[in-house]
Amino acid sequence: MLIVPEGLIAGLVSAEDAFAAVEAVFAAMSRGEAYNFDVVREALGEGRQYGFKSGLDRAGGQLGVKAGGYFPGNAAHGIINHQSTVFLFDPETGQPVAMVGGGLLTALRTAAASAISIDRLARRDARVLGMVGAGHQAGFQLRAAARVRDFERVIAWNLHPEMLDRLGAIAAELGLPFEAVPLERMVEADVIVTITSSPAASLLDRHVAPGTHLACMGTDTRGKQEVEPALLGRASVFADEIAQSVSIGEAQHAVAAGLLDATAITPLGDVITGRHPGRRSDDEITLFDGTGVGLQDLAVAAMAVRRAVERGQGSVVEI
Ligand code: NAD
Repeated sequence: MLIVPEGLIAGLVSAEDAFAAVEAVFAAMSRGEAYNFDVVREALGEGRQYGFKSGLDRAGGQLGVKAGGYFPGNAAHGIINHQSTVFLFDPETGQPVAMVGGGLLTALRTAAASAISIDRLARRDARVLGMVGAGHQAGFQLRAAARVRDFERVIAWNLHPEMLDRLGAIAAELGLPFEAVPLERMVEADVIVTITSSPAASLLDRHVAPGTHLACMGTDTRGKQEVEPALLGRASVFADEIAQSVSIGEAQHAVAAGLLDATAITPLGDVITGRHPGRRSDDEITLFDGTGVGLQDLAVAAMAVRRAVERGQGSVVEI
């Protein structure tokens, strides 16, 4: 099997590559050619989460699993809170093919999903990007969003305001004016990305104007929550995968509250394949519940492996 360490990933997979790979696998899911296995996700105590996301992509020829989780104490040791590794197997024989560092790939594939939702669902004339969250993933989200719309400015809120400077520096790099705002001012945003580890809603229904597109990316576990359930009640809701959206995604709360039915949620892949028209009017609120599916991980890891093989990088080991 080939080992592709974390340190090689930046040179192997770009944000554009991740966008193409995730869009292709969402489309394969929509066509029924790829599916995710049930997620295993366990609370280890003190906020630590660990689990396995896996799936089979018949079209892309990928079988595998991402093992990893969220360890909130890591930042104090100078390492990121999200830790993961992707394992790929031959879908015909079950033999291990590769072990790939999953840190940067997770950030790239998560930002890609969010950007695909913005590309497909936000108004074409979206000019103001609202960011809720300023942790490790937020910078990737900001960069990816800026690739798909001509934003003129960024407004941002974070529970820990001291973290906003780093996000402001990324906006500056992109040439975008950046302002830290109270949540009430999110009504100015045309697109809002939420990417926090919050256990309770920060963004409320009244903070969101008609016509906004939301990419809710932080809630990937039972018990996490970023937005008020009423918002999902009045929005057109899209998801990477409906089963994950209602069990571990943002929709878990709106479904439990009786404000949203699972049958009203549309897979984003259906918009990509043209089975669903996407946004229907300029006043509609569209909301993407991005829970993060195993197939996204396999798609970007497979790309890293292909490139590593082409360039003779990584280490081959016998298992
Ligand atoms: P991080 O630890 O670097 O940052 C955490 C962020 O959440 C910060 O902005 C912090 O201020 C904020 N926060 C913490 N407690 C909060 C609270 N009580 N209320 C509101 N905000 C709070 O984490 P990260 O790596 O940036 O990840 C952010 C979230 O995204 C995590 O929940 C992570 O599990 C999730 N995530 C989702 C996917 C996906 O595919 N959907 C992928 C990766 C990470």
